[in-house]
Amino acid sequence: MSLLKPDLILGHVTDITPELLQRHRLRGLIVDLDNTLIPYGSFAEALEVQTWTGELLERGIKMYMVSNALPERVAFWTQRLNFPGVGLASKPLPRAFKKAVKRMGLQSRQVAMVGDQLFTDVLGGNLIGAFTIMVRPLSDNALPHTKFTRRMEQLVLRRFSSSFTGD
Ligand SMILES: [Mg+2]
Repeated sequence: MSLLKPDLILGHVTDITPELLQRHRLRGLIVDLDNTLIPYGSFAEALEVQTWTGELLERGIKMYMVSNALPERVAFWTQRLNFPGVGLASKPLPRAFKKAVKRMGLQSRQVAMVGDQLFTDVLGGNLIGAFTIMVRPLSDNALPHTKFTRRMEQLVLRRFSSSFTGD
């Protein structure tokens, strides 16, 4: 069960500040794309997120996108946000996460995986020994499979809820 436990639950990626990263001795972020950085399937400009990534990069935080989305979509956003990434990543399999850590020139424990899904982002991040941050999904794509996943996530998170209170 602990492989499904995020180290931190936040509302939005922009809640991740340089100070928060410093406090946890983190020097790099692996970020999910859909519903974490950008609403599912969107190509619309996202100034708040662009400002946030710009500031972190300027502070020397390494960033790498790991997404299960199509490579064309990932390429569009990595170009716009100025950091590298990979699509069709088969999360939660560790391969893409390991590659991301290596490309950033860091160790897994120096990296946080940030995503909106427990069974892909958090599980994958925990499998490689990274710090894991779960954020609230930006939009709810109403696919039946997603609804089921969200219900399962709620069940798992409820089991951990006592350890998050007062955090
Ligand atoms: Mg996502």
